[in-house]
Amino acid sequence: MIEYENLKKLNLAFEKNFKEEFNLFLDSGWYILGDSTKIFESDFAKYLGTSYCVGVGNGLDAMVLAIEALDLPAQSEIIVPSNTYIATILAVLKAGHIPVLVEPDINTYNIDPIRIRENLTKKTKALLIVHLYGKSCEMDSILDIVKDNGLFLLEDCAQSHGAEYKGKKTGTFGIGCFSFYPTKNLGALGDGGAVVTDDGRINIKLRALRNYGSEKKYENILVGINSRLDELQARFLNVKLRFLDQINGHKRKLASIYFENLTKELILPAVDPNYFDVYHIFNIRTNKREQLKEYLLANGIKTEIHYPIPPHKQKAMQGILNSSFPISEEIHKTTLSLPISYFHSEEDVFYISKIINRFFT
Ligand SMILES: *Cc1c(COP(=O)(O)O)cnc(C)c1O
Repeated sequence: MIEYENLKKLNLAFEKNFKEEFNLFLDSGWYILGDSTKIFESDFAKYLGTSYCVGVGNGLDAMVLAIEALDLPAQSEIIVPSNTYIATILAVLKAGHIPVLVEPDINTYNIDPIRIRENLTKKTKALLIVHLYGKSCEMDSILDIVKDNGLFLLEDCAQSHGAEYKGKKTGTFGIGCFSFYPTKNLGALGDGGAVVTDDGRINIKLRALRNYGSEKKYENILVGINSRLDELQARFLNVKLRFLDQINGHKRKLASIYFENLTKELILPAVDPNYFDVYHIFNIRTNKREQLKEYLLANGIKTEIHYPIPPHKQKAMQGILNSSFPISEEIHKTTLSLPISYFHSEEDVFYISKIINRFFT
């Protein structure tokens, strides 16, 4: 059986380091907002090439707090992709604003800049884009839109740790919001998240917002929440960060084997020299998705669907998001995610490719 993901196996290579870190953590007696979080914040900012990083509790909070730090007028419109994990849209709603969904480019699955322009109104104050599956959005056009219209730019980088557009890392174009959920390319052993920015004032605000709105103990300057990256997760992330390029490199190698071997009957991810993709997810598209998924399972290969139901079709969004989004729906109907974890071998991917090709002959 080739599993789609197995976190125990994924983290096996780091277990020795994790155990050492756990012992150091226990010895230190310091559990929240200490040196390990500071080291992670500083090293992750350095890795990305940005000035500041603020560790928070998870990816959703990273986005909610980043939006709140902008101090937008209540019920501002924030443009988000229709093709995303629901967290992106929830963040806008939780921060008290209106998510305006914009369809993706069918070739990249990421938000379509032409359609962003079509959806701008006087109430639009920010874009919250998502670098889905580990591929950057088309940043030249997006940065033009931001500049032309005086908007804020937020990036959901939950799937794009280390991904680049024209040599610049995602998360450094605007305010970058990261999740360290265990399955992500940079994954903790629990929940974790971070916001990165070059703006010193946003940095200071975020540090207060994540900690009850407090800069100084028992003095509250903002209406904050409790969402702090904890020391143990920061320690695990400090280990993992040193291997992030290696993890991404392995996933890129596996992707290259898929590209070389998979039948042209499938729609494969777009490849473009301007984009350094990190393949958080390697998705293919086919009208025979359900049959292929079953065939693979019968041959001992597990796959996933990211995602089976688009956000605007979720029950929770009834009466909130009501338009139809045919491009997103088409993607949700035809997409299938193939195994591409750090623990998968090149042989696994050759085998998976062979079985897929056999399905089509
Ligand atoms: C995982 C993910 C999130 C949420 O991150 P959490 O840490 O689970 O809150 C947000 N957006 C996208 C695109 C994701 O893949």
